[in-house]
Amino acid sequence: MGQVLLVTGGSRGIGAAVALLAARRGWDVAVNYAADQASAERVAAQARELGVRAMAVRARVEHEDEVLAMYRAVDAQLGPVAGLVNNAGVVDRAARVDEMSVARLRRMFEINVIGSFVCAREAVLRMSTRHGGAGGAIVNLSSAAARLGAPGQYVDYAASKGAIDTFTQGLAKEVAAEGIRVNAIRPGLIDTDIHASGGIPDRVKQLQHQVPMGRGGSAEEVAEAVVWLLGPESSYVTGTLVDVTGGR
Ligand code: NAP
Repeated sequence: MGQVLLVTGGSRGIGAAVALLAARRGWDVAVNYAADQASAERVAAQARELGVRAMAVRARVEHEDEVLAMYRAVDAQLGPVAGLVNNAGVVDRAARVDEMSVARLRRMFEINVIGSFVCAREAVLRMSTRHGGAGGAIVNLSSAAARLGAPGQYVDYAASKGAIDTFTQGLAKEVAAEGIRVNAIRPGLIDTDIHASGGIPDRVKQLQHQVPMGRGGSAEEVAEAVVWLLGPESSYVTGTLVDVTGGR
C-alpha cells in the first residue's frame, strides 16, 4: 500500500495529470470532482491500472460539509492522507473590476481560497505530528496571475491566487516543525479546459506570444513539478512558490 494523496479537481486538466503521475510514482489517489463523475471515475480507473488503489470522490470544496464527508470517505476507503494537492479552482468571464458583482467575487473567493483553506485544515489535522499524524506534503495551485494581476480579464481570480501565495507561506511556517511541507505551483498559460470555462477557449493561442518560450504548457509539465514537491526529493523545500510558466 502506498501513501494516500487527495487531489481536488482531479477529474481533468492539471488535477488529472497530477493524479496519474502520482499513481505512477506509487501514491494511492483520491480523485475529487465537483460535477463530472464519469471523468473522475475514469481517472481513478486509469490510476488503478497503474497498480495503486484509487477512488473518485465528489465534494464542492466551498461547502464545508461536503469536504468533511469527502475526508471521511477517503479515511474509510484508503486511509489518512499524506499528500494534498489543492488544485480545484475556477475562473470567470473576462470583466473589469468596475463590472464585478459581489456574487461573482464571493464564488471566486469561496472556491479558490476558502475551499483551499478548509481542505488544508482537514489535511493538517491528519498529517501533523501535533495531532498524532506522520507528516505529509501540501501543494497549492496558485497562478502566475498572482503577480501579473490579469487586468481586463479577471483581477478577482488573480487576487484569489495572491491569497493562495500568502496562505502557502504562512501555513508552511506554521506546520514546518510538525512534519508537513507546504508549497505552491504558479502555472502560466497551460492548455486545459479552464480557458473555455472563462469564455476564451483559445486563450493559450492568443497569449502564447507573450511567453518567452513561445508556447503554452501542458498539464503534464505542471504535474511533474507538483509531484516533485509531494515527494522525498524535495524534502528540504517548504514555503516556496514554484513558477511553471515558460519564463513568463
Ligand atoms: P480545469 O481544467 O478547469 O479543471 C478544474 C477541475 O476543478 C475539474 O476537475 C473540476 O471538476 C474541478 N472543480 C471546479 N470547481 C470545483 C469545486 N467547486 N469543487 C471541487 N472541484 C472543482 O482547470 P485546470 O486548468 O486544470 O486548473 C487547475 C488549477 O490550476 C486551478 O486552481 C487553476 O486556477 C490553476 N491554474 C491553471 C492554469 C491554466 O492555464 N490552466 C494557470 C494557472 C493556474 P468537475 O469537472 O467535476 O466540475
